[in-house]
Amino acid sequence: MAKIQTPQPVRGTQDIFGEDQERFSRVVDAFQRVRRLYGFKGVEMPVFEPTAVFARSLGETTDVVSKEMYSFEDRGGDSLTLRPEFTAGICRAFLSNGWQQHVPLKLSAHGPLFRYERPQKGRYRQFHQLDAEIIGAGEAAADVELLCFADQLLRELGIADGVTLQLNTLGDAESRDAWRAALVEHFQAHRDQLSEDSRDRLERNPLRILDSKERQDRPIADAAPDIDAYLSSEAKEFFAQVTEGLDACGVAWTRNSRLVRGLDYYRHTAFEFVTDRLGAQGTVLAGGRYDGLMESLGGPHTPAVGWAAGIERLGMLVGEAQGNIKLPERLVVLADGPMAAAKASALSAYIRRRLPELIKKIDRDRWNRVFEVEQPGIDGTFAENDDEFSFDGSIEVGLKYNQRKQFDKAKREGVSVIVTVRDDGVRSPKSMLVSSHRTQEDMDKGALGMHALWTLIEMELGEGEFSLVNDQKIRLPE
Ligand code: ATP
Ligand code: MG
Repeated sequence: MAKIQTPQPVRGTQDIFGEDQERFSRVVDAFQRVRRLYGFKGVEMPVFEPTAVFARSLGETTDVVSKEMYSFEDRGGDSLTLRPEFTAGICRAFLSNGWQQHVPLKLSAHGPLFRYERPQKGRYRQFHQLDAEIIGAGEAAADVELLCFADQLLRELGIADGVTLQLNTLGDAESRDAWRAALVEHFQAHRDQLSEDSRDRLERNPLRILDSKERQDRPIADAAPDIDAYLSSEAKEFFAQVTEGLDACGVAWTRNSRLVRGLDYYRHTAFEFVTDRLGAQGTVLAGGRYDGLMESLGGPHTPAVGWAAGIERLGMLVGEAQGNIKLPERLVVLADGPMAAAKASALSAYIRRRLPELIKKIDRDRWNRVFEVEQPGIDGTFAENDDEFSFDGSIEVGLKYNQRKQFDKAKREGVSVIVTVRDDGVRSPKSMLVSSHRTQEDMDKGALGMHALWTLIEMELGEGEFSLVNDQKIRLPE
């Protein structure tokens, strides 16, 4: 028989597992917490849209539209595109569903995006973003709120220190056009010294030359005129309001007058949170104000501002900041053979079901009181701090019966509490003999350790005298 070839993954895709997945989840969890705190509603968006949604709004001449989109014809002959960003799809949804009635509307989304790029560290063909948008607010307060949200997210992830907010203004349409003309003139005068890419951009998208990474372009880009001389007084005033708001909220920023965004739809505020810790892929979060986008999709004038952040890049920074990620704490219940399997399942089901109640019981004061009464010998080491017992772990049941092997594996993996269950000869799955193994590290946490949970169960259900010794007989309540 011919050998079957295992298919290869698609270039630029990732199978995210283990610690990488844990970091990924943490980024998303923190995002969900902070977006709720700021009152952003979640929105679930289609992964594909009619190609026109992106082609019109992003601008036909941008890199994304001209080189990076995954577009295809479906079986009905319609041209569809896998979303390369959230913003345009969200604006399409805003118009399709008549969400005008909700403005100002604060929305958030996260999920996969697709761009045909050259894959490298921090750059993939399927990647993932967090996204936040405020639609229908032309006030600088919206820009400030959105930037505070981004800043708080980075703080909660513990990576704010290595990341700088770079801020620029692209002015209103009038300022931007005047500046653009001045830039074209400047670059035309140095045309011969520009890289081929930038000569190309001169026709298509001259602003983009400003943030060129080509070495030969840098002196010319650095000598180009700033927008400041071309800003209308309204645009100047708007930018001043944004920076004052940020200062008032304690959000640090620096001006980067070379910062332009790749997409055509930006006006006024443009920003990037950048780090030097990820090599060339140093932008972790980026966005700006896009007052012209809705019109490009045939909608009414609707000012809006938003940002998107790469989940993988944030995850890498979290890894840098925290080293090896601490995996959730585990309590594992192991049966010593098929006879005890139902008992082990019953015990873990019981613990999981009662978890909220058990956690309440382990609040520190109550715990200490109980513990001193029951165990006068052991008290000094318990919970010096005022933290409450917070549970962020798992209660797992062993799926194999070779207890010794499973026990060793659990120990190797640093499981906080390993409970082994033996058959006590009673037919009821609620009756069993249990013993436990706790790591010293977990014991050292006192009342905040995972062992507190297990000890409480032994104390409640143990049929003999309570003790930390092995072979406790317990019976789960009916
Ligand atoms: P870059 O200059 O790195 O190509 P961009 O301007 O194309 O970025 P945006 O469209 O602003 O990126 O996307 C916002 C964020 O999404 C980026 O700052 C980055 O963190 C992330 N991102 C963008 N493209 C990719 C990709 N191909 N792989 C992984 N993350 C990405
Ligand atoms: Mg890009």
